[in-house]
Amino acid sequence: MSLLLKNGFGYLAGKFQDLNVLIENGRVESLNQATTADNIIDLQHALITPGLIDVHVHLREPGFTNKETIKTGSSAAAHGGFTTIGAMANLNPVPDNAQQFSQQIKLNQSGAVKIKQYAPVTKQRQGQACVNFGELKNAGAFAFSDDGSGIDNARVMFETMQQLAHLHMPLCDHAQDMNLTNAGVINAGPTAQKLGVPGVNNVSETAQIARNLVLAQATGVHYHVCHVSTKESIELIRIAKANGINVTCEVTPHHLLLDDTDIVEDNAQFKMNPPLRSQEDRLACVAGLMDGTIDLIATDHAPHTDREKQLGLLESPNGIVGSETAFALLYTKFVKTGIWPLENLIEWMSGAAKRIFKLTNVGQLKIGDPADVAVFDLEHAATIDAGQFLSKGHNSPFIGQQVYGMTVLTLVNGQVVYRRK
Ligand SMILES: [Zn+2]
Repeated sequence: MSLLLKNGFGYLAGKFQDLNVLIENGRVESLNQATTADNIIDLQHALITPGLIDVHVHLREPGFTNKETIKTGSSAAAHGGFTTIGAMANLNPVPDNAQQFSQQIKLNQSGAVKIKQYAPVTKQRQGQACVNFGELKNAGAFAFSDDGSGIDNARVMFETMQQLAHLHMPLCDHAQDMNLTNAGVINAGPTAQKLGVPGVNNVSETAQIARNLVLAQATGVHYHVCHVSTKESIELIRIAKANGINVTCEVTPHHLLLDDTDIVEDNAQFKMNPPLRSQEDRLACVAGLMDGTIDLIATDHAPHTDREKQLGLLESPNGIVGSETAFALLYTKFVKTGIWPLENLIEWMSGAAKRIFKLTNVGQLKIGDPADVAVFDLEHAATIDAGQFLSKGHNSPFIGQQVYGMTVLTLVNGQVVYRRK
Protein backbone atom coordinates (compact mmCIF):
# COMPACT_ATOMS: atom_id res chain seq x y z
CA MET A 1 0.00 0.00 0.00
CA SER A 2 1.28 3.44 -0.91
CA LEU A 3 0.20 6.79 0.49
CA LEU A 4 0.74 10.16 -1.14
CA LEU A 5 0.73 13.34 0.95
CA LYS A 6 -0.10 15.86 -1.73
CA ASN A 7 -0.06 19.66 -1.93
CA GLY A 8 1.91 20.34 1.20
CA PHE A 9 4.92 22.56 1.66
CA GLY A 10 8.08 21.93 3.59
CA TYR A 11 11.71 22.87 4.18
CA LEU A 12 13.87 20.87 1.82
CA ALA A 13 17.34 21.43 0.38
CA GLY A 14 17.71 24.74 2.22
CA LYS A 15 14.41 26.32 1.21
CA PHE A 16 10.65 26.11 1.62
CA GLN A 17 8.97 24.55 -1.40
CA ASP A 18 5.81 22.78 -2.45
CA LEU A 19 6.06 19.21 -1.30
CA ASN A 20 4.49 15.86 -2.18
CA VAL A 21 5.65 12.90 -0.10
CA LEU A 22 5.13 9.36 -1.36
CA ILE A 23 5.22 6.68 1.33
CA GLU A 24 5.55 2.98 0.60
CA ASN A 25 5.96 0.15 3.08
CA GLY A 26 6.34 2.64 5.90
CA ARG A 27 9.22 4.52 4.30
CA VAL A 28 9.63 7.71 2.33
CA GLU A 29 9.72 6.47 -1.25
CA SER A 30 10.03 9.78 -3.10
CA LEU A 31 9.82 13.54 -2.64
CA ASN A 32 8.09 15.59 -5.35
CA GLN A 33 8.12 12.77 -7.92
CA ALA A 34 4.85 10.89 -7.55
CA THR A 35 1.40 12.13 -8.57
CA THR A 36 -0.62 9.07 -7.70
CA ALA A 37 -0.79 6.30 -5.07
CA ASP A 38 -3.20 3.78 -3.50
CA ASN A 39 -4.28 6.46 -1.01
CA ILE A 40 -3.94 10.20 -1.41
CA ILE A 41 -4.32 12.85 1.29
CA ASP A 42 -4.65 16.42 -0.01
CA LEU A 43 -2.91 18.64 2.54
CA GLN A 44 -4.29 21.90 1.09
CA HIS A 45 -0.96 23.66 1.45
CA ALA A 46 -0.33 22.69 5.08
CA LEU A 47 3.24 22.50 6.45
CA ILE A 48 4.98 19.10 6.31
CA THR A 49 7.84 18.53 8.75
CA PRO A 50 9.86 15.56 9.90
CA GLY A 51 8.07 13.99 12.87
CA LEU A 52 8.97 16.16 15.86
CA ILE A 53 11.22 14.83 18.63
CA ASP A 54 10.61 15.61 22.31
CA VAL A 55 13.42 14.33 24.53
CA HIS A 56 11.65 15.13 27.80
CA VAL A 57 8.25 13.68 28.74
CA HIS A 58 6.75 11.93 31.75
CA LEU A 59 4.45 9.03 30.84
CA ARG A 60 3.70 7.99 34.46
CA GLU A 61 3.24 4.25 33.76
CA PRO A 62 3.80 2.20 35.82
CA GLY A 63 2.99 3.76 39.16
CA PHE A 64 0.94 6.85 38.42
CA THR A 65 -1.60 5.80 35.79
CA ASN A 66 -4.24 8.09 37.31
CA LYS A 67 -2.15 10.93 35.82
CA GLU A 68 -1.18 9.39 32.44
CA THR A 69 -0.49 6.08 30.73
CA ILE A 70 1.88 5.11 27.95
CA LYS A 71 -1.14 5.03 25.64
CA THR A 72 -2.54 8.46 26.58
CA GLY A 73 0.86 10.14 26.85
CA SER A 74 2.06 8.82 23.51
CA SER A 75 -1.28 9.73 21.89
CA ALA A 76 -0.85 13.25 23.26
CA ALA A 77 2.61 13.34 21.68
CA ALA A 78 1.15 12.22 18.34
CA HIS A 79 -1.49 14.96 18.68
CA GLY A 80 1.35 17.46 19.01
CA GLY A 81 3.18 16.18 15.90
CA PHE A 82 5.83 14.28 17.89
CA THR A 83 6.88 10.88 16.57
CA THR A 84 9.81 10.19 18.90
CA ILE A 85 9.79 10.96 22.62
CA GLY A 86 12.21 10.44 25.51
CA ALA A 87 10.43 9.11 28.59
CA MET A 88 11.85 9.91 32.04
CA ALA A 89 12.40 7.26 34.68
CA ASN A 90 10.54 8.72 37.69
CA LEU A 91 8.20 5.75 37.73
CA ASN A 92 7.15 3.19 40.31
CA PRO A 93 8.89 0.82 40.21
CA VAL A 94 11.92 2.82 39.09
CA PRO A 95 13.50 0.90 36.17
CA ASP A 96 16.92 0.89 37.86
CA ASN A 97 18.02 -2.67 37.03
CA ALA A 98 18.21 -4.61 33.77
CA GLN A 99 15.15 -6.73 34.44
CA GLN A 100 12.90 -3.82 35.40
CA PHE A 101 14.28 -1.77 32.52
CA SER A 102 13.62 -4.48 29.94
CA GLN A 103 10.08 -4.73 31.30
CA GLN A 104 9.69 -0.96 30.79
CA ILE A 105 10.90 -1.16 27.19
CA LYS A 106 8.31 -3.87 26.55
CA LEU A 107 5.56 -1.72 28.07
CA ASN A 108 6.65 1.25 25.95
CA GLN A 109 6.05 -0.73 22.77
CA SER A 110 2.32 -0.20 23.24
CA GLY A 111 2.86 3.52 22.59
CA ALA A 112 1.45 5.36 19.58
CA VAL A 113 4.88 6.87 18.82
CA LYS A 114 8.52 5.80 19.21
CA ILE A 115 9.52 5.90 22.87
CA LYS A 116 13.15 6.19 23.97
CA GLN A 117 13.51 5.27 27.63
CA TYR A 118 15.79 7.11 30.04
CA ALA A 119 17.46 5.04 32.74
CA PRO A 120 17.93 6.51 36.21
CA VAL A 121 21.37 7.57 37.40
CA THR A 122 20.99 6.34 40.97
CA LYS A 123 19.16 3.44 42.60
CA GLN A 124 15.54 4.39 43.32
CA ARG A 125 16.53 7.89 42.12
CA GLN A 126 17.72 8.57 45.65
CA GLY A 127 20.95 10.30 44.60
CA GLN A 128 23.10 7.99 46.70
CA ALA A 129 24.24 4.83 44.88
CA CYS A 130 24.89 4.62 41.15
CA VAL A 131 22.99 2.12 39.03
CA ASN A 132 24.88 -0.42 36.95
CA PHE A 133 25.33 1.83 33.92
CA GLY A 134 26.73 -0.82 31.56
CA GLU A 135 23.88 -3.21 32.29
CA LEU A 136 21.24 -0.54 31.64
CA LYS A 137 22.99 0.66 28.48
CA ASN A 138 22.91 -2.91 27.19
CA ALA A 139 19.23 -3.15 28.13
CA GLY A 140 18.56 -0.25 25.75
CA ALA A 141 18.83 2.97 27.77
CA PHE A 142 18.51 6.10 25.64
CA ALA A 143 20.39 8.25 28.18
CA PHE A 144 20.69 8.55 31.96
CA SER A 145 18.76 10.99 34.15
CA ASP A 146 17.38 11.30 37.68
CA ASP A 147 15.03 13.97 36.31
CA GLY A 148 12.70 15.31 38.94
CA SER A 149 15.58 15.57 41.41
CA GLY A 150 19.05 17.04 41.40
CA ILE A 151 22.03 14.96 42.51
CA ASP A 152 23.51 16.76 45.50
CA ASN A 153 26.40 14.40 46.19
CA ALA A 154 29.40 15.54 44.12
CA ARG A 155 31.14 12.17 44.46
CA VAL A 156 28.09 10.40 43.00
CA MET A 157 27.98 12.89 40.13
CA PHE A 158 31.71 12.59 39.44
CA GLU A 159 31.61 8.80 39.44
CA THR A 160 28.52 8.87 37.17
CA MET A 161 30.21 11.14 34.66
CA GLN A 162 33.40 9.07 34.64
CA GLN A 163 31.46 5.91 33.89
CA LEU A 164 29.13 7.47 31.33
CA ALA A 165 32.06 9.09 29.51
CA HIS A 166 33.60 5.63 29.24
CA LEU A 167 30.31 4.19 27.93
CA HIS A 168 29.72 7.14 25.54
CA MET A 169 26.30 7.80 27.09
CA PRO A 170 24.80 11.24 27.85
CA LEU A 171 24.10 12.40 31.39
CA CYS A 172 20.90 14.47 31.38
CA ASP A 173 20.79 16.64 34.46
CA HIS A 174 17.82 18.06 36.31
CA ALA A 175 20.18 20.68 37.73
CA GLN A 176 18.98 21.64 41.16
CA ASP A 177 20.83 21.82 44.45
CA MET A 178 18.16 20.54 46.81
CA ASN A 179 19.82 22.38 49.73
CA LEU A 180 19.28 25.74 48.04
CA THR A 181 15.64 25.51 46.98
CA ASN A 182 14.21 27.04 50.16
CA ALA A 183 11.13 24.79 49.77
CA GLY A 184 10.07 27.30 47.13
CA VAL A 185 6.97 26.77 45.00
CA ILE A 186 7.46 29.56 42.43
CA ASN A 187 10.37 31.82 41.52
CA ALA A 188 11.85 33.95 44.31
CA GLY A 189 10.96 37.59 43.65
CA PRO A 190 8.17 40.16 43.81
CA THR A 191 5.45 37.72 42.70
CA ALA A 192 6.32 35.20 45.43
CA GLN A 193 6.35 38.05 47.95
CA LYS A 194 3.01 39.40 46.78
CA LEU A 195 1.39 35.96 46.94
CA GLY A 196 3.08 35.17 50.26
CA VAL A 197 4.64 31.88 49.13
CA PRO A 198 8.28 30.70 49.41
CA GLY A 199 10.42 31.30 46.32
CA VAL A 200 13.09 29.24 44.56
CA ASN A 201 16.28 31.22 44.01
CA ASN A 202 18.16 31.15 40.67
CA VAL A 203 21.31 29.87 42.38
CA SER A 204 19.69 26.52 43.22
CA GLU A 205 19.93 25.75 39.48
CA THR A 206 22.98 27.73 38.47
CA ALA A 207 25.26 26.58 41.30
CA GLN A 208 24.55 22.94 40.45
CA ILE A 209 25.33 23.58 36.77
CA ALA A 210 28.58 25.34 37.70
CA ARG A 211 29.75 22.35 39.73
CA ASN A 212 28.64 19.88 37.09
CA LEU A 213 30.38 21.77 34.27
CA VAL A 214 33.64 21.45 36.21
CA LEU A 215 33.06 17.72 36.62
CA ALA A 216 32.01 17.38 32.96
CA GLN A 217 35.19 19.07 31.83
CA ALA A 218 37.29 16.74 33.96
CA THR A 219 35.55 13.61 32.65
CA GLY A 220 34.71 14.53 29.04
CA VAL A 221 31.17 13.19 29.42
CA HIS A 222 28.34 14.53 27.26
CA TYR A 223 26.63 16.70 29.86
CA HIS A 224 23.09 17.71 28.86
CA VAL A 225 21.20 20.18 31.02
CA CYS A 226 17.45 19.61 31.10
CA HIS A 227 15.03 22.59 31.11
CA VAL A 228 17.54 25.39 31.62
CA SER A 229 15.78 28.44 33.09
CA THR A 230 18.06 31.17 34.49
CA LYS A 231 20.10 33.80 32.68
CA GLU A 232 23.13 32.91 34.81
CA SER A 233 22.87 29.22 33.83
CA ILE A 234 22.70 30.15 30.17
CA GLU A 235 25.73 32.44 30.48
CA LEU A 236 27.72 29.65 32.18
CA ILE A 237 26.81 27.20 29.41
CA ARG A 238 27.76 29.80 26.80
CA ILE A 239 31.22 30.13 28.36
CA ALA A 240 31.56 26.36 28.78
CA LYS A 241 30.78 25.76 25.11
CA ALA A 242 33.30 28.41 24.09
CA ASN A 243 35.86 26.51 26.17
CA GLY A 244 35.14 23.23 24.44
CA ILE A 245 33.25 21.50 27.25
CA ASN A 246 30.92 18.81 25.88
CA VAL A 247 27.68 20.41 27.10
CA THR A 248 24.25 20.74 25.50
CA CYS A 249 20.97 21.96 26.91
CA GLU A 250 17.24 22.21 26.35
CA VAL A 251 14.57 24.78 27.18
CA THR A 252 10.84 24.22 27.62
CA PRO A 253 8.11 26.08 25.72
CA HIS A 254 6.78 27.50 29.00
CA HIS A 255 10.12 29.06 29.96
CA LEU A 256 10.13 30.75 26.53
CA LEU A 257 6.52 31.90 26.71
CA LEU A 258 5.84 32.80 30.35
CA ASP A 259 7.53 34.40 33.34
CA ASP A 260 6.52 34.90 36.95
CA THR A 261 4.73 38.16 36.17
CA ASP A 262 2.11 35.97 34.46
CA ILE A 263 1.19 34.49 37.84
CA VAL A 264 -1.48 36.85 39.15
CA GLU A 265 -3.13 34.61 41.74
CA ASP A 266 -2.63 31.35 43.62
CA ASN A 267 -3.05 29.12 40.56
CA ALA A 268 -1.06 25.87 40.36
CA GLN A 269 -1.36 25.73 36.56
CA PHE A 270 1.69 28.00 36.76
CA LYS A 271 3.63 25.73 39.13
CA MET A 272 6.48 23.68 37.72
CA ASN A 273 10.10 22.84 38.45
CA PRO A 274 12.19 24.75 37.53
CA PRO A 275 9.68 27.55 38.12
CA LEU A 276 8.73 30.30 35.69
CA ARG A 277 11.53 32.79 36.29
CA SER A 278 11.76 36.54 35.83
CA GLN A 279 11.19 38.32 32.54
CA GLU A 280 14.98 38.81 32.24
CA ASP A 281 15.49 35.06 32.58
CA ARG A 282 12.80 34.38 29.99
CA LEU A 283 14.44 36.75 27.51
CA ALA A 284 17.81 35.08 28.19
CA CYS A 285 16.21 31.74 27.25
CA VAL A 286 14.97 33.21 23.96
CA ALA A 287 18.37 34.80 23.23
CA GLY A 288 20.22 31.62 24.22
CA LEU A 289 18.22 29.58 21.76
CA MET A 290 18.77 32.08 18.99
CA ASP A 291 22.57 32.25 19.49
CA GLY A 292 22.97 28.47 19.75
CA THR A 293 23.79 28.29 23.47
CA ILE A 294 20.54 26.40 23.96
CA ASP A 295 20.39 23.49 21.55
CA LEU A 296 16.78 22.41 21.47
CA ILE A 297 13.25 22.67 22.80
CA ALA A 298 11.74 19.88 24.93
CA THR A 299 8.36 20.05 26.63
CA ASP A 300 8.82 18.43 30.08
CA HIS A 301 5.23 17.18 29.56
CA ALA A 302 4.20 16.46 33.16
CA PRO A 303 0.55 15.44 33.54
CA HIS A 304 -1.26 15.48 36.89
CA THR A 305 -4.90 14.96 37.83
CA ASP A 306 -7.28 17.93 37.93
CA ARG A 307 -7.75 17.31 41.62
CA GLU A 308 -4.02 17.51 42.37
CA LYS A 309 -3.63 20.76 40.46
CA GLN A 310 -6.55 22.33 42.31
CA LEU A 311 -4.57 22.21 45.56
CA GLY A 312 -2.96 25.62 45.07
CA LEU A 313 0.67 26.68 44.80
CA LEU A 314 1.72 25.33 48.19
CA GLU A 315 0.27 21.83 47.93
CA SER A 316 -0.04 20.90 44.28
CA PRO A 317 2.64 18.86 42.47
CA ASN A 318 5.04 20.51 39.98
CA GLY A 319 4.49 20.34 36.25
CA ILE A 320 2.27 21.10 33.30
CA VAL A 321 1.33 19.20 30.15
CA GLY A 322 3.04 20.34 26.96
CA SER A 323 2.98 17.78 24.16
CA GLU A 324 -0.24 18.90 22.51
CA THR A 325 0.38 22.63 22.46
CA ALA A 326 4.16 23.12 22.06
CA PHE A 327 4.47 23.60 18.31
CA ALA A 328 1.35 25.77 17.92
CA LEU A 329 2.18 28.05 20.86
CA LEU A 330 5.77 28.60 19.73
CA TYR A 331 4.77 29.05 16.10
CA THR A 332 2.16 31.63 17.06
CA LYS A 333 4.31 33.59 19.49
CA PHE A 334 7.69 33.50 17.73
CA VAL A 335 7.33 32.55 14.06
CA LYS A 336 4.08 34.20 13.03
CA THR A 337 5.37 37.41 14.63
CA GLY A 338 8.60 37.27 12.62
CA ILE A 339 10.99 36.70 15.57
CA TRP A 340 12.17 33.24 14.49
CA PRO A 341 12.45 31.75 11.02
CA LEU A 342 10.11 28.75 10.70
CA GLU A 343 12.99 26.46 9.72
CA ASN A 344 14.70 27.22 13.06
CA LEU A 345 11.65 26.18 15.07
CA ILE A 346 11.44 22.93 13.07
CA GLU A 347 15.15 22.29 13.66
CA TRP A 348 14.92 22.96 17.42
CA MET A 349 11.99 20.53 17.66
CA SER A 350 13.36 17.73 15.45
CA GLY A 351 16.78 17.80 13.81
CA ALA A 352 18.61 19.19 16.84
CA ALA A 353 17.65 16.23 19.04
CA LYS A 354 18.68 13.84 16.27
CA ARG A 355 22.11 15.50 16.08
CA ILE A 356 22.77 15.87 19.79
CA PHE A 357 21.61 12.41 20.85
CA LYS A 358 22.92 10.76 17.67
CA LEU A 359 19.53 9.29 16.76
CA THR A 360 19.33 7.42 13.47
CA ASN A 361 16.51 7.30 10.91
CA VAL A 362 14.47 10.09 12.55
CA GLY A 363 14.29 13.86 12.46
CA GLN A 364 14.53 14.41 8.73
CA LEU A 365 12.52 13.91 5.56
CA LYS A 366 14.78 11.61 3.60
CA ILE A 367 14.15 9.02 0.94
CA GLY A 368 14.51 5.55 2.42
CA ASP A 369 13.99 6.69 6.03
CA PRO A 370 10.96 5.57 8.07
CA ALA A 371 8.03 7.87 7.24
CA ASP A 372 7.77 9.76 10.54
CA VAL A 373 5.97 12.89 9.42
CA ALA A 374 3.95 15.73 10.95
CA VAL A 375 1.58 18.13 9.19
CA PHE A 376 0.53 21.48 10.66
CA ASP A 377 -2.19 23.96 9.71
CA LEU A 378 -0.63 27.42 9.77
CA GLU A 379 -3.62 29.16 8.14
CA HIS A 380 -6.49 28.66 10.55
CA ALA A 381 -6.76 29.80 14.15
CA ALA A 382 -7.75 27.33 16.86
CA THR A 383 -8.42 27.68 20.56
CA ILE A 384 -6.51 25.50 23.01
CA ASP A 385 -9.19 23.36 24.60
CA ALA A 386 -8.42 20.83 27.33
CA GLY A 387 -11.48 18.89 26.13
CA GLN A 388 -9.51 18.04 22.97
CA PHE A 389 -6.43 16.79 24.80
CA LEU A 390 -5.58 13.11 24.43
CA SER A 391 -3.44 13.34 27.57
CA LYS A 392 -5.17 12.52 30.86
CA GLY A 393 -3.65 15.75 32.17
CA HIS A 394 -5.43 19.06 31.62
CA ASN A 395 -2.91 21.04 33.65
CA SER A 396 -1.91 23.82 31.29
CA PRO A 397 -1.74 27.58 31.77
CA PHE A 398 -2.45 28.00 28.04
CA ILE A 399 -6.08 26.83 27.98
CA GLY A 400 -8.26 29.25 26.01
CA GLN A 401 -5.41 30.80 24.02
CA GLN A 402 -5.84 31.30 20.31
CA VAL A 403 -3.10 29.71 18.23
CA TYR A 404 -2.09 28.84 14.70
CA GLY A 405 -0.20 25.70 13.77
CA MET A 406 -2.31 22.93 15.26
CA THR A 407 -1.52 19.43 14.03
CA VAL A 408 -3.44 18.05 11.06
CA LEU A 409 -1.78 14.66 10.69
CA THR A 410 0.99 12.61 12.28
CA LEU A 411 2.50 9.46 10.80
CA VAL A 412 4.87 6.97 12.42
CA ASN A 413 6.47 4.48 10.04
CA GLY A 414 3.88 5.58 7.47
CA GLN A 415 0.94 4.74 9.75
CA VAL A 416 -1.53 7.44 10.79
CA VAL A 417 -1.22 7.93 14.57
CA TYR A 418 -3.13 11.22 14.68
CA ARG A 419 -5.51 12.82 12.20
CA ARG A 420 -7.58 15.94 12.85
CA LYS A 421 -11.31 15.34 12.58
ZN1 LIG B 1 13.26 18.02 35.56
